[in-house]
Amino acid sequence: MKQNLWINGESVETENYRPLLNPYTGGQIAEVAEAAKEDVIRAIDSAAEAARGMAEMDAHKRADILRKVADYIQEDREECARLIAEESSKPLKAARAEVDRTVMTYTFASEEARRIQGDTIPMDAAPGGEGRIAYTVKEPLGVIAAITPFNFPMNLVAHKVGPAIAAGNTVVLKPASQTPLSAYKIASYFHRAGLPAGALNVVTGSGKNVGDALIADDRVKKVTFTGSPAVGKYIRENAGLKRVTLELGSNSALIVDEGTDLSKVMPRIVTGAFSNQGQVCISIQRIYVYETIAEDFVSQFVEEAGRLKVGDPLDEETDVAAMISAEDVERAQSWISDAVGNGAELVLGGESEQQVLKPTVLLNAKPTDKISCEEIFAPVVHINTFMDFDEAITEVNESQFGLQAGVYTNDLQKAFRAASNLHVGGVMINDIPTFRVDHMPYGGVKQSGTGREGIKYAVEEMTELKLVSFKLD
Ligand code: NAP
Repeated sequence: MKQNLWINGESVETENYRPLLNPYTGGQIAEVAEAAKEDVIRAIDSAAEAARGMAEMDAHKRADILRKVADYIQEDREECARLIAEESSKPLKAARAEVDRTVMTYTFASEEARRIQGDTIPMDAAPGGEGRIAYTVKEPLGVIAAITPFNFPMNLVAHKVGPAIAAGNTVVLKPASQTPLSAYKIASYFHRAGLPAGALNVVTGSGKNVGDALIADDRVKKVTFTGSPAVGKYIRENAGLKRVTLELGSNSALIVDEGTDLSKVMPRIVTGAFSNQGQVCISIQRIYVYETIAEDFVSQFVEEAGRLKVGDPLDEETDVAAMISAEDVERAQSWISDAVGNGAELVLGGESEQQVLKPTVLLNAKPTDKISCEEIFAPVVHINTFMDFDEAITEVNESQFGLQAGVYTNDLQKAFRAASNLHVGGVMINDIPTFRVDHMPYGGVKQSGTGREGIKYAVEEMTELKLVSFKLD
């Protein structure tokens, strides 16, 4: 299969193509277009040309297009899940869950398209403002560049394209090189749903080359990026006056206080640690357990994690499959050996086969070990203990990241203290940090990024507020 670019409502050939390999089998899935700079400029040209039409399109029409896209994805649920599983090695069960969430995300976008509204401003509240009626409107920005990662190839595209179209913008989408097919599939649904040509363009190719062309072009009014902190920082430093939203990484933590019903919460904690091979920005990486229940916690956690089925992503039973690349497996394993060299105890996993790193659990890692202070983005968790709840909060905060944190506690006072003192974008009381539904505000502090997604919040960042004032006499 040859996958061309998608520009101005058409499949467009380019000069170079790159083989796309299945991370688990190593087999070739497709030949994917590598956009040249001229292709990216062509995509921006068509997005710029389509911008006026999109800005003038009635809200109910934008809403209908988004609802149709949600319906098409729902109809093709199994096909979409297999596509995700093949190109990203996400286990089929998790891929289906991603497709279901993608349907929700476009549904929310469709609903949000109908309620983009401003305020009336009481101008006479200030001396000199008398005799006026004023209101605000939210106008689309125009061309938005969306750059997405490999780990949720459909739903993270939806978190950018959904609100962008809901607000009447046009988009040039650059998906991750390992997961281009999901993005092209989505473009085909938008085309079928009646989105005007040029309103959504997809260009694949090297992140640096395509990214640089998008960032350099003044017609692009905003860059919305989800990916690693290093690339996020690069975009921020080079984007000039463009708006920038950055959804970056984390080393998310969970606090488990005394009195927690361990057997009740254990399956959920294990899922939060190992789902999609730990390649989730809010995957549980650090766990802090109250000391007197720690022994019990570790034995139940290791038992539950040891039950996970490891292997082929297309197998119905698989929980943990191949990581995205052999280099990432190597990197994770070297961080594990470093931690063990520094005194951490490896109690489960550590070994890999066919790019699958087995669920790995370490105890008592040092805060300075990479598995603790960097984002591992692999099925690797370490468990530490605490006696003082507030100390545990301090340890969670001692991180360069701050996306979400989870706290299990039955003590209301502690729960409120955690809610106000954890320095993150979202605090999940009596839940894992990995919890997300697609309409909630979502994003990080510190090196986890700037800005918020969750359709309504993304729409805010994808519109410009205009004030209109009528002088009455
Ligand atoms: P990545 O390497 O940063 O890549 C993300 C996207 O950026 C890809 O499309 C990539 O293209 C592109 N890119 C690479 N270099 C670029 C450059 N110089 N300029 C512009 N674009 C460039 O991240 P990843 O490995 O795909 O994803 C994992 C990271 O994403 C983790 O850190 C994870 O925590 C984060 N993430 C965050 C969230 C969130 O919502 N906060 C959600 C999911 C993932 P190529 O693929 O062609 O290199």
